[in-house]
Amino acid sequence: MIYFLDNASTTKCFDEVNEEILRASKDDFYNPGALYAQGFETKKKLDDDRDVVLKAIGGAGYKVIFTSSATESNNLALNQVNKNAKIIIGGGEHPSIYEAALSLKNRGVDVVFAPLNKDGCIDVERFYELMTPDVSFVSIMHVSNETGNINAISELCHFAKSINPKVLFHVDGVQAFMKIDVSLQVLGVDMYTISSHKVHGPKGIGALICKKNLNLKPEIYGGGQEQGVRSGTENYPLIAGFIKAVRLTMPRIENNLQIVTCKNNALLNELSQSGVSYEINGAGEKSPYILSLSFVGVRGEVLLHMLEEYGILVSTGSACSTKKIGNRVLKAMGKNQQQIEGNLRISFDVADDIDVQYVSKAIKECVNKYKRIV
Ligand code: PLP
Repeated sequence: MIYFLDNASTTKCFDEVNEEILRASKDDFYNPGALYAQGFETKKKLDDDRDVVLKAIGGAGYKVIFTSSATESNNLALNQVNKNAKIIIGGGEHPSIYEAALSLKNRGVDVVFAPLNKDGCIDVERFYELMTPDVSFVSIMHVSNETGNINAISELCHFAKSINPKVLFHVDGVQAFMKIDVSLQVLGVDMYTISSHKVHGPKGIGALICKKNLNLKPEIYGGGQEQGVRSGTENYPLIAGFIKAVRLTMPRIENNLQIVTCKNNALLNELSQSGVSYEINGAGEKSPYILSLSFVGVRGEVLLHMLEEYGILVSTGSACSTKKIGNRVLKAMGKNQQQIEGNLRISFDVADDIDVQYVSKAIKECVNKYKRIV
């Protein structure tokens, strides 16, 4: 029995999604740019799929650019920054924003990182100080992939626009989309990134959703697909699979949230009853899908492999940054070395059966074993 508790890194495709990908590969393989009826038909389906995404995300007045991943969408968003710009980037961003921002910095862009508070959210007061009229671009994630913290996007965006109405406000919404209620109209942001494989869709598909009137600078030049922004023949079968996952999840977001909250609470309850010592990283408004714990005095990486022996799969943070030393986000929250080293990220999904007693007992046994040996 495998307990997959690493759903923030990826999720398993729904069976219906796999069937839809296969169906679309067989029946809808035509190039959406082709000038005969089958091409038009595929293009029409592709455009209907954009509407499904927009409906799922309160996106009237927005358009959808399909990409190969959220990483690409985030890079596309940062591609809009001009050479001499001043920009603000959240202090807890995923590497696909953080590293891209560092590369802009190396090319002369004035990049300012907005600090996190000790609870794991963007420090709103500090953001207000940093947000000056010369800031032309802001990128702040909606839900942290490390701690599950939910940033006050609407508040930050409306403030930024009150200081510079022309500022472009981008949000990495990968861990929020289809997990918490999201309405782009309410948030008021210009661009929003989503990923298919975090919501039981296939890997290799993401999207950048942006305001209809925004003329984005292309990232990939060629035949002019995706409204001239991202050339290359659209991967319709994977997009169809992604949309199937969205259609299946959309009516269940609220219900799923309640179920996952129960799982999260139940595991914490078991852990606190077990007597094992742990700290929760992040406080305040949080997504129940992600639980970041620190077992002080234990190396999270070793704990991860010990838990693997029990069939429990977790992570020590973002899968994309496991090769980097330390955890940049926990560091930005002011955590000390021991808290950072002892970090374990448990990320839930509504579909997985989880025996919280078994998981909690395994964690306790592994922590005690580690402490006896080391
Ligand atoms: N942004 C966040 C917040 C993520 O959690 C991830 C994946 O872990 C990404 C971006 C990158 O997503 P993708 O794998 O689709 O490139």
